[in-house]
Amino acid sequence: MPKESHEQKAARTARIIDALEEEIPEARIALDSTNDLELLVSVMLSAQTMDSLVNKVTPALFAKYRTAQAYADASEEELQQAISRIGLFRNKAKNLKAAMTIIVRDHGGQIPRTREALNELPGVGWKTAGVVAYHAFGTPAFPVDTHVGRLSRRLGLTSQEDPAKVEEDLQKLLPPERWGRAHQLIIWHGRRTCHAQRPQCDACVIEKECPRVGVTLSDLKSPASATKRAGRSRPAPKRRSAPSRKASPKRKRPTKAR
Ligand code: SF4
Repeated sequence: MPKESHEQKAARTARIIDALEEEIPEARIALDSTNDLELLVSVMLSAQTMDSLVNKVTPALFAKYRTAQAYADASEEELQQAISRIGLFRNKAKNLKAAMTIIVRDHGGQIPRTREALNELPGVGWKTAGVVAYHAFGTPAFPVDTHVGRLSRRLGLTSQEDPAKVEEDLQKLLPPERWGRAHQLIIWHGRRTCHAQRPQCDACVIEKECPRVGVTLSDLKSPASATKRAGRSRPAPKRRSAPSRKASPKRKRPTKAR
């Protein structure tokens, strides 16, 4: 792909997101919640845990703990028991109680609406804060998880590895009102097609927009590639149900506002 200006890269980014929207309009957050408190709890619990497992645990949890005060009043042992099926449950129970205690003490029991305030809560990093701020309050954010980082580099939209720097690069390429949706679409494309190993480039709707930075020939030796080499018709991209998500390890923003 020839060297492109910022304007050309921004236009390409817009075409990529448009194509993904057309391909996977059903893309949405896979964690079940009905309010901002439940969303925050779900996202906190999902670190290094499949969304499907979180969704199995949270109905009983949400029925028992309906307010931030209820979590703050519970003992860590009680919370551990309620989420014991989830990975890192001891640490997550500790963070849940500590975060809800701060929410009760400093925010009147209401979930803080800014990404910066959310980021100050125990167990809530910059990425998690962005996910909650965007989905709960519509705050523009382009949270960078493992999928968004990997795809952004393969697509040549950034060369950064640090999630905060990747997000800065991505934010320059789209208007703020598109950030959150673009984040969601890229995650789904990463789970369905642009896998960490063996990306399905032959079945990718944004193939013509992608320079495949860092993708090696051995990466492409996938069943889809074999089909194409054998001269068979190109397989249509599959529409699948919401894939379960394995959250990347929580990464804090390098410097926190204090
Ligand atoms: S062409 Fe390949 S590397 Fe590029 S986004 Fe599609 S699947 Fe990923």
